Amino acid sequence: MKKYNFNAGPSMLPREVIENTAKQMLDFNGSGLSLMEISHRAKDFQPVMDEAMALVKELLDVPEGYSVIFLGGGASLQFCQVPCNFLIKKAAYLNTGVWAKKAMKEAKHFGEVVEVASSAEATYSYIPKGWQCPTDVDYLHITTNNTIYGTEIRKDLDVPVRLIADMSSDIFSRPVDVSKYDCIYGGAQKNLAMAGVTIIIVKDDCLGRAPREIPTMLDYRTHVEKGSMFNTPPVVPIYSALETLRWIKREGGVEAMNRRAVERGRMLYDEIDRNRLFRGTVAVEDRSLMNICFVMNDEYAELEKPFMEFATERGMVGIKGHRSVGGFRASCYNAQTIEGVKALVACMQEFEAKH
Ligand SMILES: *Cc1c(COP(=O)(O)O)cnc(C)c1O
Repeated sequence: MKKYNFNAGPSMLPREVIENTAKQMLDFNGSGLSLMEISHRAKDFQPVMDEAMALVKELLDVPEGYSVIFLGGGASLQFCQVPCNFLIKKAAYLNTGVWAKKAMKEAKHFGEVVEVASSAEATYSYIPKGWQCPTDVDYLHITTNNTIYGTEIRKDLDVPVRLIADMSSDIFSRPVDVSKYDCIYGGAQKNLAMAGVTIIIVKDDCLGRAPREIPTMLDYRTHVEKGSMFNTPPVVPIYSALETLRWIKREGGVEAMNRRAVERGRMLYDEIDRNRLFRGTVAVEDRSLMNICFVMNDEYAELEKPFMEFATERGMVGIKGHRSVGGFRASCYNAQTIEGVKALVACMQEFEAKH
């Protein structure tokens, strides 16, 4: 049976990305060796790194004065690396979910943390509005897409201080005005690559300002200066990211990714709103196009398990909601197909007809 992958991360990748990456596992560039067994300093690997960095800049239209680096450690390491490099005295954080909270916790190791607003009291079911960003902070940190709760800030904010964003689960899903940010980071395993690499876009002129001794590996300057080759980078994940970046370019760039995301989101949210068995879990204006969360309507609560079984029998994978929200979550990253979304919508309609 055909499987439709709605996993939240690691998650679906384009089939050709997986196939092309698999080929390099057996024979990298006709060298007779696997990509797993060559030096990252081999002359054949440098072009992979160079092309991946260049494509990030091209696809997101990254202005002059920014560097792109690929590191290990996941977005979770960035929760500490960001404040270690940028927090001088005080930083502001917008608390929109579990990941934002984890970022705040790590920042407290390096200075004072101000929570500008929070939607914790409502299980993070909306993005706080009407808050003011203090002007005496070193930066404001936001999480653009809240993977667990299904809310998203799908525009670039104007704030009076440096802006830093965790874009782990929506990077490359829309055009971004990079010039509004001083640092953008994301673990690649949601909509870019296999797990193991983190992408960081950092503005060069904010490096080296923090008045502390930064351990070599945590200092962004180390990796910027060495082109992400200070130590052994995660070569296979970087290669898979390169294949996805090429795929995004072939498919029409981030504008095309955005159009598809809007289309998928419209189809699925329309069905959630129409179907009498289900309802969405977050404020309509903050609905994520990446992680679409829904639950059974109260009067049909006992149908949650039966629907899960029904959908699983029809090939849906990974639609169980995060334990803190319950219900269902259909993750629709760049590689998600309209066909996959149609299959899920058909499931919801058939199930409704039976009940
Ligand atoms: C998944 C995720 C993380 C954690 O990423 P790791 O690479 O596992 O550390 C952080 N932030 C957001 C928004 C995520 O979706």
